[in-house]
Amino acid sequence: MSVDNFSISANSITGESTLVYQDFARQVQKTKGIKIINFGIGQPDLPTFGKIRESAKKALDEGFTSYTSAYGIDELRQKIAEHLSNKYGKVKKEEVIITPGAKTALYLAFLMYINPGDEVLIFDPSFYSYAEVVKMLGGVPVYVKMKFNENTGFSLNLSEVESKLTKKTKMIVLNNPHNPTGMVFDPIEIEKLMQIAKERRIILLSDEIYDYFIYEGKMKSVLEDPDWRDYVIYVNGFSKTFSMTGWRLGYVVAKENVIRKMAALAANIYTCATSFAQKGALAAFDSFDKVKEMISLFRKRRDTMYEELKKIKWIQVYKSAGAFYMFPYVGEILRKSNLSVKDFSLKLIEEKGVTTIPGEVFPLDVGKEFVRLSFAVNENDIREGIKRMKEFIDMLMTP
Ligand code: PMP
Repeated sequence: MSVDNFSISANSITGESTLVYQDFARQVQKTKGIKIINFGIGQPDLPTFGKIRESAKKALDEGFTSYTSAYGIDELRQKIAEHLSNKYGKVKKEEVIITPGAKTALYLAFLMYINPGDEVLIFDPSFYSYAEVVKMLGGVPVYVKMKFNENTGFSLNLSEVESKLTKKTKMIVLNNPHNPTGMVFDPIEIEKLMQIAKERRIILLSDEIYDYFIYEGKMKSVLEDPDWRDYVIYVNGFSKTFSMTGWRLGYVVAKENVIRKMAALAANIYTCATSFAQKGALAAFDSFDKVKEMISLFRKRRDTMYEELKKIKWIQVYKSAGAFYMFPYVGEILRKSNLSVKDFSLKLIEEKGVTTIPGEVFPLDVGKEFVRLSFAVNENDIREGIKRMKEFIDMLMTP
């Protein structure tokens, strides 16, 4: 036995993280000296709002630096419960656990339910971490291909969901608004999905971390169903809405006894989320004016990115209604130039200094013909980056 003999869990990690492309861009910047335009970024580019920073600083100065309860501090659980109760319907403090980021919330949710061989329905494309954690725990990701239409975007493809259900299906993972497509799914589709989960007794794990990033239409939350406690595990976090990615704060909402079991797991894995970060997050609920400003800024950036992308005749793009990503179809370009989407992204960095994320990172087949671009980038850079992208594509498509 040596330190190189990894566990089945460690060896199960096969996916490629988005960081690979950021690293390559840094290398290109160093060797070629071109300014990199980074559409690969998965976080708002604004500093955490002032009141939140002040609240955390105060907590630090007052010595609030010890462990907290594994559930998180009571005041924050209470604030989250009140916030969700006002927005959707009654949630109790006891139904909330604070976690170090939404990723840990998702990890706890999978750890609670996945036994080896259990199947988990994951939409393709999706945030890469879902499938990786399922595999890590010995579960089997079963992919449901979403359907793309340039005018209406991606659909959850519910008939395929039904056809993929087996006796081993334990969970369905939903992410709404959606990374990487920028979809806010049709409320009717969400309702039908909830119905399937409820009737077939399958757990619906709903990641709603982009719930404030909505530019068009209305989002349906799973917490709007008065029966959510029977089948829903809800995940959200502070990273995106309040520009707090490095603070590592997320949360789960579920039935009280589920939260108690999660706290027991948490106590043995990470003890608690960072104490003074939790105090900072208390002020997040007084910062919605700032959130609103950020969303109107992002709406403008989305419009600009869409207008600029439309100038490239070889791509098809849906004007995203949520999150901060655009997910254009580049299949025609790939076929003509004989490039994989991964090589397309790498070449675009190398030749033009523009970072995009190849869709196959999310995590499988559908994305092989799409690239993800984040519009959490200033407007000048959006214009400049898409201009460079257009030059690159024109070059590829010129015989
Ligand atoms: N879910 C989705 C859909 C995400 O895009 C991300 C971040 N990229 C996360 C969860 C993780 O968020 P956190 O920073 O709170 O761990």
